[in-house]
Amino acid sequence: TMQIFMPLNFLGFVYREIRGALANIENLFKLLDKQPAIADAPDAQDLKVEGGGIRFQQVSFRYQSDRPILRQVDFTVSPGQKVAIVGESGAGKSTLIKLLFRFYDTIEGKILIDGQDIAAVTQQSLRQAIGIVPQDTVLFNDSIFENIRYARPDASEQEVLDAIRMAHLDNFIRTLPKGHQTQVGERGLKLSGGEKQRVAIARVILKRPPILLFDEATSSLDSQSEQAILKAFTEVSSGHTSLVIAHRLSTVVDADKILVMSEGAIVEQGNHQQLLQTEGYYARLWHAQQHQRRDKESG
Ligand code: ATP
Repeated sequence: TMQIFMPLNFLGFVYREIRGALANIENLFKLLDKQPAIADAPDAQDLKVEGGGIRFQQVSFRYQSDRPILRQVDFTVSPGQKVAIVGESGAGKSTLIKLLFRFYDTIEGKILIDGQDIAAVTQQSLRQAIGIVPQDTVLFNDSIFENIRYARPDASEQEVLDAIRMAHLDNFIRTLPKGHQTQVGERGLKLSGGEKQRVAIARVILKRPPILLFDEATSSLDSQSEQAILKAFTEVSSGHTSLVIAHRLSTVVDADKILVMSEGAIVEQGNHQQLLQTEGYYARLWHAQQHQRRDKESG
């Protein structure tokens, strides 16, 4: 078993190193300001979302260098489906999501939402259609209430309070000195990773986008926090198309479809049962994780 654990531990190390260097997806919004802007096509129309189906059609991509990052990635997410993306660090999972937001254009192939090429629609309408729960949410120096309302500034007080409840943040907020008027952010109360993810979920609830992206935390959360996040996300994503960069077994097992990525390509896809039966890469990862779990549990 050592041979299995060594690379997994090593990947964990590489992962943290890369994570430190790379901004999370929400921070990319800020980075975007400094990057050569991707322009709307002169005749760009607003995206019209019906079911929120996603189609990657033979998508290839590389960043500035010659090193290919995505190779002929091809998959479909049917409206309302929950799809999990798994794969080793550096496999290209986040890149796939960045392309869906059109932070970059594909080199080859197309990405379609409800049949419309995302390169042909206005970026504003594209980003309006997608809500994201990143690993590390940016909080402003303001009250927790305003930090949530920011997702839709014209939301009423009641709507914000409903979102707080639906995101399972109300118990936590009740313990704060000034309730939802408590100041958070750099100069205020620091929230845990799990609490921040629930703030992001509350924002998504207010924004009500048809497509949801969830970058699951890799850092271990306490299991109560983890349960609360999963419950909240499952509730908001019900009936919506969702794409999850998954690290939790429960997320993967429940997914309608799992995309298994390695070195920029989708090497296997199917649901959990189908992939276990394939006895390929996914099945090996799964069994290795099961071993690791059991070893942990037995101390
Ligand atoms: P992780 O699980 O560690 O987040 P990932 O599967 O999400 O990994 P990506 O973040 O998509 O992987 O990265 C895929 C590859 O692209 C990596 O080798 C990474 O170093 C490279 N890469 C990512 N962003 C950039 C960038 N802005 N410029 C150049 N290379 C990049």
